[in-house]
Amino acid sequence: MLDLTGFVDPHVHTAPDLVPRLLDDVSSVREAFKVGMIGILIKNHTTLTADRAALAAKLVPGIRVWGGLVLNRSVGGVQSGCSRGRIGVRGGGDMDANIRCR
Ligand SMILES: [Zn+2]
Repeated sequence: MLDLTGFVDPHVHTAPDLVPRLLDDVSSVREAFKVGMIGILIKNHTTLTADRAALAAKLVPGIRVWGGLVLNRSVGGVQSGCSRGRIGVRGGGDMDANIRCR
């Protein structure tokens, strides 16, 4: 069995989503915590997950949970004013909207 102790998964798709997902936010965080992981980032191609991550982190103490916003067209895409130093999560569901900021 793979030892995931201390591991962080920066790309975890959870339910609810437009497509079926194996686990919801809290169940995913609980499973990650059970195997010794120290963090996960909850991702969705169509909506913000920071609020969901904050709630999951509150319900499952002892593990870091991040959320974010994939800059796909459904949320407005990448705007020309995007600045350096920001972290963008590339979206696989809307690849045309993935533009790198320089
Ligand atoms: Zn993905």
